[in-house]
Amino acid sequence: MPGELEQFRMLIGGKPVDAASGRTFESLNPYTGEPWAVVPDGGPEDVDAAVAAARSAFEGEWGQTTGFARAALLRRLGDLIADDAERLARLEVNDSGKLYREMIGQTTALGSWYHYFAGLADKIEGRQIPSPNPNYLVYTRREPVGVVAAITPWNSPLLLMSWKLAPALAAGCTVVVKPSEHAPVSTLGFAELVEKAGFPPGVVNVVTGLSRETGAALAAHPGVDKVAFTGSTATGRAVAKAAADNINKVTLELGGKSPQIVFPDADLAAAANGIVAGVFAATGQTCMAGSRLIVHADVHDELIRLVADRAARIRLGDPTAPETEMGPVANEPQYEKVLHYLETAKAEGATVAYGGAADPGLGGLFVQPTVLTGITPESTVYREEVFGPVLAALTFTDEDEAIKLANDTPYGLAGAVWTKDVHRAHRVAAKIRAGSVWINAYRVVAPSVPFGGYKMSGLGRENGIHAIDEYLEEKAVWVELTGGTRDPFTLG
Ligand code: NAD
Repeated sequence: MPGELEQFRMLIGGKPVDAASGRTFESLNPYTGEPWAVVPDGGPEDVDAAVAAARSAFEGEWGQTTGFARAALLRRLGDLIADDAERLARLEVNDSGKLYREMIGQTTALGSWYHYFAGLADKIEGRQIPSPNPNYLVYTRREPVGVVAAITPWNSPLLLMSWKLAPALAAGCTVVVKPSEHAPVSTLGFAELVEKAGFPPGVVNVVTGLSRETGAALAAHPGVDKVAFTGSTATGRAVAKAAADNINKVTLELGGKSPQIVFPDADLAAAANGIVAGVFAATGQTCMAGSRLIVHADVHDELIRLVADRAARIRLGDPTAPETEMGPVANEPQYEKVLHYLETAKAEGATVAYGGAADPGLGGLFVQPTVLTGITPESTVYREEVFGPVLAALTFTDEDEAIKLANDTPYGLAGAVWTKDVHRAHRVAAKIRAGSVWINAYRVVAPSVPFGGYKMSGLGRENGIHAIDEYLEEKAVWVELTGGTRDPFTLG
């Protein structure tokens, strides 16, 4: 009954609001299959209102705040997030079916993104540049780009939003956030903290909407100056086109098909653990999933045995239970997509070392952790992003072949090298065409470390010192020093 569901409102111009149309939609809990919250079904008119509020804040009080004041607000927000980590984690678990034990770790760490970028907010410096003409003093100012559209996917909505929001606010921008229709609630819950921290009205706005048109309206809005997007490569292409039409800055964090290369000298138990972390944690629904296993022929059987054994012991179930290791797939279309990939893999001749099917015993949208061998570089599951708990393994015999296989993908988000040979580790890491490479590890990120994709995995970087540049314009200021008048028909 809608009356029993938790109710949430959007944030526009500092006020909690309903959609202009009055429409709402329900967010489904993928574990119970039941609706649990009601959120506004915002459309283009709400996007207009949010962009107008963001513009007005940018041109008003917020535009005059110093980096020192913004740093203080960001620190306060970071502290409030830490205090509220439990509530935020529960909102994400209900919305996406991700494990509470993972999400509480994520929301507890989330404040560190705001603290990190608070540290940069008061260090945005211009330069004094030597001029070839001594009559001029030239310096640069680094100014906020303006109104930012932040569009996020359903896996880890708060983390992926924070990768945009924290640097944007540190730079002095204003932001309109549009979370996924599949997991909109945590962003609305988060917005309450923005207000509590004391950000002026309109600096951060959140619009939710069931139709994908809402995101499209935001990405193409003429009042937006920069689009920061995380999602699929297909949608990212549409977002990039919309940004191009407005000649806007854009950053894109897109899909992946990341390789894990295991050499015969690797610690196989550690590699198996990293492979499990890379492809089964978060039910494989991470952009950086290490979904292609490229393993030396000599250790293939042993490694597959270790990974399949661990896969067989993964505890599937209630995402809120502390002992659960893998929750359901986050939504019905994604569940159907994963099952379709499993059928395709079998039809193309893959061998199922473990899993390979839905897990109907648990009810809900459960898929078994799956290990597929006998894969070729042409196999669909080797080429396309599944975004589910599916590992596709094939073998190599020499280092060059391993690198060639690793790079034989349109994606380039991440990858790993497992070996005890320090020379080989760095040699291979240098040759993998991807934005992040772990050596004897997987799936570690931090506010201070750049993250993003080569090739079809994205454009630009989030996190790290230079992420703030994505939210800044550089202005050159020329100051005439002599006060004299010169020939108007020659330059300089
Ligand atoms: P998606 O592309 O379907 O949707 C992402 C967001 O874009 C949603 O908010 C959606 O409503 C919105 N949207 C839809 N159509 C739009 C349009 N035309 N213009 C603007 N916005 C539009 O992605 P998803 O299914 O929510 O998320 C899964 C994908 O995200 C996977 O491909 C995954 O690899 C990728 N991802 C990437 C990263 C990364 O950092 N590289 C992180 C997480 C997820």
